[in-house]
Parts: sequence; C-alpha cells; structure tokens
Amino acid sequence: MKVPIQPGSTLGVMGGGQLGRMFVHAAQSLGYFTAVLDPDPVSPAGRVAHYHIATAYLDEAGLAQLMQRSHAITTEFENVPAPALRTLGAHRPVAPSADAVAVCQDRAAEKSHFMQCGVPCALHAVLDSDADVERVPASLLPGILKTARLGYDGKGQVNVPDRQALQAAWNVLGRVPCILEQRLALHREVSVIIARDALGHSVSLPVQQNLHRDGILAVTQVPAPDLDPALADQALDAARRIAEAMRYVGVLCVEFFVLADGRLVANEMAPRPHNSGHYSIDACDVSQFELQVRTLAGLPLVQPRLHSAAVMINLLGDLWFDGAGHQREPDWSAVLRLPGSHLHLYGKADPRRGRKMGHLTVTAADAAHARAVAIEAAAVLGLPAF
Ligand code: ATP
Ligand code: MG
Repeated sequence: MKVPIQPGSTLGVMGGGQLGRMFVHAAQSLGYFTAVLDPDPVSPAGRVAHYHIATAYLDEAGLAQLMQRSHAITTEFENVPAPALRTLGAHRPVAPSADAVAVCQDRAAEKSHFMQCGVPCALHAVLDSDADVERVPASLLPGILKTARLGYDGKGQVNVPDRQALQAAWNVLGRVPCILEQRLALHREVSVIIARDALGHSVSLPVQQNLHRDGILAVTQVPAPDLDPALADQALDAARRIAEAMRYVGVLCVEFFVLADGRLVANEMAPRPHNSGHYSIDACDVSQFELQVRTLAGLPLVQPRLHSAAVMINLLGDLWFDGAGHQREPDWSAVLRLPGSHLHLYGKADPRRGRKMGHLTVTAADAAHARAVAIEAAAVLGLPAF
C-alpha cells in the first residue's frame, strides 16, 4: 500500500458507536470516503458513513466487504474481536494492530504491560479459580473486582469490602477470569491521549482531568486545574513509553489515578480515541479523531495546540427523563444560548439511563470562564456542579 493513503480513498472502521461517528466526520472533512462495520442497522457511525456493512464483527462476508471497500481500517472500540482485526490485517493496513488491541482487551495483559514499561499500577491479583480467590492477599482488600475482559463504563465491576464479599462478587461476575485490585484513595483522575505513527513519531493532547460518577465519565476539564507540571510530564512520558513498547500505531488513551500522596498510577488504556478527548474537536487545532485519520492514512502528525480552555460534560440518557420517569427532550436552546457551548449528539434514537447520548463542550479564553459557563450549562440540564 502506497503511503500516505490519499484523500479520495476509503477508510474503514470496525464499530459504529459515537467514536466511529466522530472518526467518520473527521475522515470526511479530509476528503475520505468511509465504511463502517457494525451489526446495528441504525448505529451512530453507520448512519453517517458512505458505506455501512451491517453484519456481526466476525462475519466473514462482512469482513470481506469491509476489506473490499477500504484502503485501511481502524477500530473504534476495544471489544472488537482481535481475530477479526487479524483477518483484516492480513490484507489491509490496520491500525492499531490486532496485537495491541489484544493487550488493551485484557486487564491482566494490560497491567503486565504497564509494569514492563516501568509504569506503576494498582496492586492486583489475577483470579481464575476458587483457589486463586482463596489465595488473595489481605493487602488487596478492600478492593474492586473487575472482569478481565469486556468491561466499560464501570460495568463488570463489583466493590469488595472484605474477604467474605469476594467469593460472592466472583459469583456475581459469572466466575469469569477477573482482576482484583486494591481500592486506592484517588486525589484525582487524569488521562493522556497520544498518537503514534509507523515511524515512531508521537504527539499528544494536553493532560486532561476527569471526573467520574457511578463509574462513568461525567466531566473532563482541560487544562487540568492546578496540575503539577512535573506530574503532567510524568503522565505524558508514561503514555509515550506504553505506546512505544507496543510499537503502537494509532491513537491511544491512558487513564491515570493521582493518589493522595501525589503518586501517579496507570489505571487502564484504550486503543482508540477516548471520551476524555472529545473536547479536542472544539478546543484544539487538531482533534483526537483527526489524529486517528492521520495515523491510519500515514499523514504527518503535528503537535495539537489547545487554543481554548475547555470543559466537556457527558450527556447520558438520564437527561431524557423527567422526575416522574416520563421521556422528554432536554432544553437544548437553553444550553446553546450559553457562549462557547458546542453540542454534540450521537443520533441515538433510544435514550436509556447511563447511555452516552452526546456531550457538550464549553470553550472559553481561560479555564475559570469555561468552568463557570459549564457549571451554568450543568444547572440548566439538571446536572450537579463539579
Ligand atoms: P471506562 O471504560 O469507562 O474507562 P471501565 O469500566 O473500564 O471504565 P475503570 O476505568 O477500570 O472501568 O474504572 C472506572 C472508574 O472506577 C475509574 O475511573 C475510577 O473512578 C474507579 N476505580 C477503578 N479502579 C479503581 C481503584 N483501584 N481504586 C479506586 N477507584 C477505582
Ligand atoms: Mg476507565
């Protein structure tokens, strides 16, 4: 394949969620055609792509069609089966690679990768059997039991206050392979989005600060308020080492905890753009989705510049219900009246509680103004301040 893959070619994506949709938007604005493979006939990305192949991820005919259409292929969620990416990778440039995605799909592999890179992570144990459960050292409790695979938005996680609760928690999660990790006292959470090309050049977005509610990202602030620059450098450097060691090509997000004692600990990573980087569409001169297009097509990477302070608020399906549980449309006019507000809705027809329906980014000349307007927007939507 000739590099770069020129505009006018077709870029394919495995997965049709909101991340795929924003990838498609970025690819189209650079003049590419786009193809999406997702079983859902009305997926957010499928609805805006030039071609939508509505088959299962492992469907051979579907994969063949995606290859036929696409000059290069990426993925938008880490639960795309690695074998599907391997099949595609045998015939087309695929970024990130199946091997890199496989590491990110498994919390045990992910944590050993962090440790190999010299990046600290939470003390943990891999649980695969009753014997493993009995053998858990007391130092891991109280802890959080997480399924090794297929977790997202806090799903597949159970709090484990003590040893007695552990066996029950493992049963609740279906006795599948799990990670028990020590519950850490979090001072704050931050993440880093890095893009790396095939020649090993990498660029990154500024460190962003994330607030989670009920295990789901609720608010991202950039710049991270009062973050020690040395800690920010440490996070950027750790993300670079993590990407480098996988010879990663594409966009990678690494989530970190900052502990009360100031230590930085890696939580997990995602082999794709990330919810905490959505602000980059409106606040940076190159978004995380454009970085994904550039790495996939082999176009030059340039260091993104944050031109505005930003606060991103996730819009979950809960906002579509009033106090009595009746469905309603949030008051978009009230939100759009606020200066610097950028509304992104993903075109999902069916609002459900906890479902990511869209996000709102507020940009401003400085962080104080962005935060003030974002808090106003939150109030208008009925969300708590932060
Ligand atoms: P997502 O895919 O949305 O990032 P996830 O379901 O993969 O989330 P994690 O990132 O592992 O889950 O955990 C979700 C949140 O739960 C974290 O952002 C953090 O707030 C909290 N959490 C997870 N692990 C720990 C821990 N060891 N100690 C304290 N809090 C934790
Ligand atoms: Mg997470």
